[in-house]
Amino acid sequence: MKPASHHVTRCRRCGAPIVWCLTSANGKRQPVNAAPDETGNVAVMQGADGLLYVRTVTAARPEIRPGEWQAMPHHATCPAPPPRRSNGGQRAAAGTVRPGPWQR
Ligand SMILES: [Zn+2]
Repeated sequence: MKPASHHVTRCRRCGAPIVWCLTSANGKRQPVNAAPDETGNVAVMQGADGLLYVRTVTAARPEIRPGEWQAMPHHATCPAPPPRRSNGGQRAAAGTVRPGPWQR
């Protein structure tokens, strides 16, 4: 199985093809790489309502069931993940940071 083409969109940050899924655990939206990936740790399926649902593949439920495909969460491979709250923290570690006049 693989996602239907109308589900596939692109990551706003890196442009990779992804599909938006709802987590079966709590219904939150989660981006998953569009290409099936047998090294991924989630399984995606299309529900009867036409939406995609994602669940974590666990040791207790490792099997991929009919209608599901194995995939990789996009967070795991996105080269441009959302910035952390501590904006510029990595730059601060690289050198001297002086407070700019624009900071209050
Ligand atoms: Zn991305």
